[in-house]
Amino acid sequence: MNAPPEMPAPLLIAGEDAPGTGPVLDAIDPATGDVSARYQTATPAEVDAAVHAARAAHERGVWRDKKPHERATILFEAARRIADQTETLATIQMRQNGKTLTECRAQAKAAAATFRYFASVCETLEGELTTPRGDYLTLTVYEPAGVVALITPWNSPLTMEAQKLAPALAAGNSVILKPSEMTPGCGLALARIVCEAGVPSGVLSVLSGTGAIVGDALVRHAGVSMISFTGGTMTGRTIARLAAERLIPCALELGGKSPHIVFADADLDRAAEGVFGGIFDALGQSCVAGSRLFVERPVYRAIVDRLVARAEALRLGPPTDPSSDQGPLASFGHRERVERYVALAREDGGRILAGGKRPLGSVFERGAYYRPTIIEGLDNKARACREEIFGPVLCVLPFDDEADLLAQANDTSYGLAAGVWTRDTVKAWRIARRLEAGTVWINTYRELSIAAPFGGMKESGLGREKGRQGVRLYTQPKSIYLSLAGGSP
Ligand code: NAD
Repeated sequence: MNAPPEMPAPLLIAGEDAPGTGPVLDAIDPATGDVSARYQTATPAEVDAAVHAARAAHERGVWRDKKPHERATILFEAARRIADQTETLATIQMRQNGKTLTECRAQAKAAAATFRYFASVCETLEGELTTPRGDYLTLTVYEPAGVVALITPWNSPLTMEAQKLAPALAAGNSVILKPSEMTPGCGLALARIVCEAGVPSGVLSVLSGTGAIVGDALVRHAGVSMISFTGGTMTGRTIARLAAERLIPCALELGGKSPHIVFADADLDRAAEGVFGGIFDALGQSCVAGSRLFVERPVYRAIVDRLVARAEALRLGPPTDPSSDQGPLASFGHRERVERYVALAREDGGRILAGGKRPLGSVFERGAYYRPTIIEGLDNKARACREEIFGPVLCVLPFDDEADLLAQANDTSYGLAAGVWTRDTVKAWRIARRLEAGTVWINTYRELSIAAPFGGMKESGLGREKGRQGVRLYTQPKSIYLSLAGGSP
C-alpha cells in the first residue's frame, strides 16, 4: 500500500484555493486499492460562500459584460493550456476511475478540443433581428442564465466537465462545478487551468464532496439560477423535482440501456467489431453503452460467436500498460453492483457465454477487475435487460422482423442512443427514425462529435448539450422591442 498524499487538496472558491471543512475524501485507485489523492470537501456553509461569490461576480459583470470575442480569447487560451497538460490530466483521471492511460489521454485532448470549439461558437454566435409585425424593431438577445451549478459523474470527468464548463462560461455565466466524489481531481485541475488562462476571479468554483451534502446544498441554494446535471436517472429525478419547486431551468443527461441492432444483411465482421466496442470500450461504463444487442435470427449465432471470441481475447491489465485493452472497473463498489446484476441474470435463466467472473492472476488481485460478460437467453423484460448496469455486460436477444425489433428495442424507459448495422441504407434510415433515442448510429457506434447535439429522450434526459446550440442551453432569450413610431419611413 502506497502512503496517501499528506495534504488534502483544497476547494476552489471564486478562482482561489479555499479550505473545505467537511470530511476529507479519499480518491481510491481502482487498479490497486490505494488512496491516490485526498480532497477537502465543502460544507453547506462553503457552498453558500461559493454561490455568493459567483452571484457577486455576475452582478459586477466581470465576465458577463466582456465582449464575446474577449471571452473567446480566454477560452482559446484555456484550450491551449489544457492540451499542454494532457499527461497530468490523463494521469489524474486514470488514478481515480481506472480507465487506461491511452483513453485518458484521448479524453484530455477531447477536453481541450471542447474548449476550442466553444470558444469559436462564443465568438461567432449571433442574436436575431426578427421580422417586425408593427412599427418597431424586434431583437432577440441571449443573456447568461446567471449562476450555473454543474454536477458531474465519475465515468469520464475530463470530457464531461469540459462539455459543461466551456459552454456555460462561453455564455457568460458564473459557474460552480460539483464533481463526483469518486473523481474530484479532474474538475479541480481543469478549473485551475481555466482560471490561469484568464477567467476573472469570482467566476469559477469547484466544490468537492458528496451528492447528499454538497450537491444537495447547491441544488437547493436560492442563489443558483440553473442546474446542468449528468448522472443517474434517479438522481436526475430528485434534482428535477427541486428545480421545479424553485422554477429554475435544469438540463439532465441521464442513464441509458441502448439497443444495438444487427440485420442479417450487415457486414458481419464490421458489425461484430462495432457491437463489441459499443459495450466493452470503457467496460460499459458509458451512458451510451450498447448494452442490449438485437440480432436478426439468421445471423444470430455468427454474430454471437464473433463476440464471444473477441471477449475472450480482450486483455485486461494495469491502466498504465499500453498493452492493456481495458483496466479495472471504476470502483470496488461498482464491481459488486455489476456482479449482483450478473447473478440476477443467471437466476432469470440467462446463459453466460463469456465472462461472468473476475479474472484470475496476481496482476488482478488488488484491482476492481471484471471480465467482459455476454449473456443470452434472457427475456427483454428481465431486469438485466431493463436496468442500466453501467458495466461490461451485454445481453443478446434475437429478432425476427422489423416490427418485432422495434417493439423490443423501444420497450425501455430509456432513450439515449441506439445503433443499426445493415447494408440497406433505406431500411437503416427507416429504423433510425423510429427508434426512440437522442442519438442513432448507422454502421458505426460511439462516435461522438462536439458539434452534434447530444441528449436523451424519455428517462434519459432533458435538453441537449454540445453543438452550437450547446451555448444557448446556458442562456435565456430576451426579446427587445424598439419603437420606430414617429420616425421617417
Ligand atoms: P450519480 O447520479 O450517482 O451521481 C452523479 C453526480 O450527482 C455526482 O457528482 C453525485 O455526487 C451527484 N449527486 C448525487 N446525489 C445528488 C443529490 N441528491 N443532489 C445533487 N447531486 C447529487 O451518477 P454516477 O454513479 O456518478 O454516474 C453514473 C450515471 O451517470 C449512469 O447512470 C450514467 O448513465 C450516467 N451518465 C450519463 C451521461 C449522459 O450524458 N447521458 C454521461 C455519463 C454518465
